[in-house]
Amino acid sequence: MRTYRTPIFKLIAYAWASPNTALGILLGLVMLALGGRVRIVAGVAEFHGGWMGSFFASRPHPFCFGAITIGHVILGTCHKELYALRAHEHVHVRQYERWGVFFLPAYALSSLWEVCRGRNGYRNNFFERQAYAEEDKQVLPDRQHIRRNI
Ligand SMILES: [Zn+2]
Repeated sequence: MRTYRTPIFKLIAYAWASPNTALGILLGLVMLALGGRVRIVAGVAEFHGGWMGSFFASRPHPFCFGAITIGHVILGTCHKELYALRAHEHVHVRQYERWGVFFLPAYALSSLWEVCRGRNGYRNNFFERQAYAEEDKQVLPDRQHIRRNI
């Protein structure tokens, strides 16, 4: 997926994704109020832990998850999961930057389409397939030292 790195395009991308980011921040603030933590990684707010982190980590399949991206916000169950899933979730951030307010409806329609075809609505979702295909290509600032050591 092509990304625009000039400041003006980055600013437009943040503005375009901002309605989703506002929802993510709201959920992140609830997470903080329930004992979670937050930090900024590569321009994305990452919330994790607390009661909500434990709650979502302990749900039975298919309701448990390690992390979820909403605009420029990633909500993770714990720091370890955020680290493991960061490249994948940052592909979703780029998708929000591209699709803006249309991302969540498009994601839902893609899942619905796959379910109607008798396939898995998560694994076969267009956006998930793209994220799994591209996550290995990303090199985030905090992973560069790992990449250099390989
Ligand atoms: Zn995903």
